[in-house]
Amino acid sequence: MDQKKIRVRFAPSPTGPLHMGGVRTALFNYLFARKHGGDFLLRIEDTDQTRYVPGAEAYITESLKWCGLVPDEGPGFGGSFGPYRQSERKAMYFSFARQLVDSGWAYYSFDTPGDLDRLRAEAEAAGEVFAYNQQTRGSLCNSLALTPGETEQRISSGEPYAIRFKMPENMDVTEEDLIRGSVTFNTRELDDKVLFKSDGMPTYHLANVVDDHLMEISHVIRGEEWLPSMPLHILLYRAFGWEESRPRFAHLPLILKPQGKGKLSKRDGDKMGFPVFPLLWKDPESGENFRGYREDGYFPEAFINMLALLGWNAGTDQEIFTMEELIENFSLERVVKSGSRFDPEKTRWFNRYYLQQKSAAELAALFMPLLEAKNIQAAPDKVVAVIEEIKDRCDFVADIWEQGHYFFEAPAVYDEKTVAKRWKAETPAQLEAMAALFETIGSWEAGAIKEQFSAFMNEKGWNFGGVMNPLRLCLVGGNLGPDLFRICELIGQEETISRIRKAVQLIG
Ligand code: GLU
Repeated sequence: MDQKKIRVRFAPSPTGPLHMGGVRTALFNYLFARKHGGDFLLRIEDTDQTRYVPGAEAYITESLKWCGLVPDEGPGFGGSFGPYRQSERKAMYFSFARQLVDSGWAYYSFDTPGDLDRLRAEAEAAGEVFAYNQQTRGSLCNSLALTPGETEQRISSGEPYAIRFKMPENMDVTEEDLIRGSVTFNTRELDDKVLFKSDGMPTYHLANVVDDHLMEISHVIRGEEWLPSMPLHILLYRAFGWEESRPRFAHLPLILKPQGKGKLSKRDGDKMGFPVFPLLWKDPESGENFRGYREDGYFPEAFINMLALLGWNAGTDQEIFTMEELIENFSLERVVKSGSRFDPEKTRWFNRYYLQQKSAAELAALFMPLLEAKNIQAAPDKVVAVIEEIKDRCDFVADIWEQGHYFFEAPAVYDEKTVAKRWKAETPAQLEAMAALFETIGSWEAGAIKEQFSAFMNEKGWNFGGVMNPLRLCLVGGNLGPDLFRICELIGQEETISRIRKAVQLIG
């Protein structure tokens, strides 16, 4: 079993956008595959047609690509174990279900949805929960309770039926989960799950196990919410006679809300102001938008770095990991059992870190489209120079605008507090003199501007702060920004002079 080639799969159902927990599952599968020179598959589990959401599969694929988690095999990615969409494998599942009926591991059930609803309602009225299981199956409408003749007759007359797993009675199923350690379930507590539905489709359980077998999956790495399905899956491998080659299991811990109890839900993001999805998702039914990390300006490397540490650590205090370092360091043994709390502030911190690692030229390439969208023309050299000045104030590319918009457009308003504090009776005349001085400067460069400015100030005997603060106000609209003379240089001689005169006119 252990010599087998490592093959893992990410198997989402296209029932909506991929939650960040889903991306973490994909990531851990990807890291495990890469670390062991194995294969990473994408399989679309779309057998539940009632829950199918248009656009969800494309969203999943795009998210994986954005994160750099490109599958080796999957719909649109090639591979020799396809098709990788379960709906396209539909024809094959029935014979597997039949095989289990023939070997006594499964049975036909003729109970109609109406019958089952009634049983559920009756149980509820009695304060109980109805389960189709080893206690109740004998009194229900199925091939275990009916005679072989009756069963045959119902089937040949075309009566709809489902195929259910016949859960063995009172048996312990024990498994060494690679994260959780030894886990035991007793089959007494498990119900007889439907394997094949009357609509001609397999359920998740049947399709998942059959496909993991046929696709030669070596390790099933998935969220903790699937742990209760593990005993059924293990018994299915046993029932099919595939125990020898069956995958090992690893169930990943829950991702918890930033505060309070419970797991992170898609509504938490709206409530607390952070994205829960990798990409923006426009709900096709409600038209509602759910924000995404990409559109919110996160770098995929920051998003991935943050996700990797949700439930895993390298055993050191290293926090910054490139994808290569994650691959190098990853192991399932270092995935924790307990839920891990999502921290939006930390995610921002990661983004800041990756932004600071980028050169001003790289950031300029990302920032130029934002300027273009605002119809602002700026020379690439200038953009690079501006970014060099303000980069350390930025966590996101969009912060470059927040922090440096005045490099690209004259202030439209002047901060009232700064005006009240800095604008004195003598200010207009002093600034007018400064504008006149600036007109005479030959080499418009911060050092030279500063030199001439200082000489002039000394000659006049003016207070430096008394002129520099209003000058800054004219140029940036408030009391902010880097070195004043660098600002003058970067916005240009003409623009500097024009902003001074405009402010003198407007503020008076
Ligand atoms: N289709 C299941 C899901 O949506 C897959 C669970 C598994 O990995 O077995 O998460």
